This record gives sequence, C-alpha cells and structure tokens, in this order.
Amino acid sequence: MSQDKDRALKQAADLEEHPDAPSTTVSRRRFLQGLGFAAGVTAAGVIPALITAAPSAGNESEAAESGSGAPGGEENPLAEIIENDKPVNYPGKPVKYADPAGDQKWAMVIDVKACVGCRKCAYACVKENNIGRTSGFTYIQLLEMEPGEINLETANANYTEGGRADKWYLPVQCMHCAKPTCVYGCPVKATWREPDGIVVIDYDKCIACRNCMITCPYYARHFNWVEPEVPKNEINPKVPLEEKAAVVEKCTFCIQRTRHGQTTACTEACPVGARTFGDLNDPNSDVSIILKTRRAFRLKEELGSEPVIWYVG
Ligand code: SF4
Ligand code: SF4
Repeated sequence: MSQDKDRALKQAADLEEHPDAPSTTVSRRRFLQGLGFAAGVTAAGVIPALITAAPSAGNESEAAESGSGAPGGEENPLAEIIENDKPVNYPGKPVKYADPAGDQKWAMVIDVKACVGCRKCAYACVKENNIGRTSGFTYIQLLEMEPGEINLETANANYTEGGRADKWYLPVQCMHCAKPTCVYGCPVKATWREPDGIVVIDYDKCIACRNCMITCPYYARHFNWVEPEVPKNEINPKVPLEEKAAVVEKCTFCIQRTRHGQTTACTEACPVGARTFGDLNDPNSDVSIILKTRRAFRLKEELGSEPVIWYVG
C-alpha cells in the first residue's frame, strides 16, 4: 500500500512537472484512481479506531472551516497538487447552484415517534439525486430497532416491511456535521463545509481514496463502484450524474432545491410529516421552534462532530 502511494505521489509530481506528458489527457482524479492510490479500507473493524483518532472537539473548528485534510498539524503530502489545481465549481460541470445565502444555517429534525419506516423518503431521495439504480446504496438508510434499543451497528437495515407496532424506525443519512470528520479525512480537499452548513463533495477533485468513508462515524458516504445508471426519463438535470462514477457521494441536503427556496425531497415525501427542514439561524423557523420546545437528541453526540440532524420522539 505505501509503495503504491509513493509511486502515485511521484507520478503525480511528474505530471505536474511535465504537463505535456501523455497522461495529462487523463484527469488527475482518474490518474490517481488508476494507480490504485485509493486506500479503500471499509472493513467495519477499522472504523472505530479511526473515529477515535479524529480531531477532538474544541480544536478542530479551524480545520473544519479551511477544509484541511491534515489534522494534527502534519503536512499534507498532496499540498502542492491541491495548491496548483484549478478551482472547480461544486459539484461538477455543467450543474451549478446558487451561492449560500447570507446567514442561513440548515438543519433537520426527525420525529422518530412519527416515522413508520416506510422508506418513502429514501425512494424520493434516490429519484431527486440521480442515485444510480444499480449502485446498491441510498443516501438515507432506515434502521429498524427493538423498543428501547438504539444501536446503529446492530440495527436491521434490511427489513422488508415498515410500520410494525413492535419496532421503531430511525432514518440515518449525512448529518452535515459542524465539525465534519469526513472533511479532515480527505487528503485533496475534495470535500468541505459550505457557509450555510451543507457538507459538499467536488466530484472532479475526488480521487476515490475513500478515507472520508472511514472517518465518517455515521456511514453516510457511499462509493460508486459502478457507473450510476438512471433511466433516461428519470434523470434530474439539476443534479450531476456522469460525474459521480468512481467517486464518493452522499446527501447534499438537496442543495439544488434548498438553495432555491424549496425543502428537501425527503421532507416533502414523508407521508407522516416526520421530517422538518429549515434554518437554525431563524428563531421562527420550524426547526428552531421544535428544538426550543421538545427534547431532542443527536446520534453519537459524544464524538463532538456536532451533527445538525436532531431527533425527537
Ligand atoms: S455525517 Fe459523515 S459525511 Fe456527513 S458531515 Fe458528518 S462526518 Fe461528514
Ligand atoms: S418517509 Fe417519513 S415515515 Fe417514511 S421512513 Fe421516511 S421519515 Fe419515516
């Protein structure tokens, strides 16, 4: 692995020095992927150790704001490549979104007492966000648990029927953490937190190392092992599709909708109103009012990643 990495770094440096070399016809992302630069470690056993190795709460906000991929003050070995890279608009041409508005901070509250585990939110999300129909993942996972139990690792994500009175259901997705450990895990600054709190990925910059998948404590990121396939008549032109091949993707809080005054597709699709999306900075928004008036909790709060999805129930 480390030999592969050294070789990849050396050849990436050569690429910088010799811009006319034949390999420049291949994008840097594809080039690094082709060299097997990716760590690709997804074994569940590795995850807890890396989570505890993530920057501790309190000294990480600077890194979060800058999107630094080098926690602990270590020099990022890819710094030169990042520095010289051309800026790319998130999340890849030709799709462009509005800039974040003023002082909004997006958040979501999910009422687990109301949720019936029907997965309509997940299906709406698949359609809205051009998730490949054969990719084998959804941004939203529904976990079925026994009453009184809360354990993400042992919950049943493969139940066939929701709505069971003897179970409860927990929707889980990217939490758009204020201190996102996924951002610290990215060596090429392909992912960052926007001023309105949305954690985004630049598909053109992602080199498929999948470190962010390991450093996310919520298993919220997914790798496209196959070209995302969406039936032609179901493609959402407001969301990238081809750009997502061989990169990591995840929930974007429906940036293509929420930056344009709409709510998220999952919120809209939920038949029981279990989801509320809104602006935390607005004291009169529904999310602010719920958080002021009801007891709420967040998942794995002790890790200090400060997720902005709260649960009530
Ligand atoms: S849930 Fe995971 S992917 Fe989403 S912001 Fe937090 S650490 Fe990053
Ligand atoms: S659509 Fe609503 S009720 Fe159905 S699983 Fe999603 S959050 Fe729960």
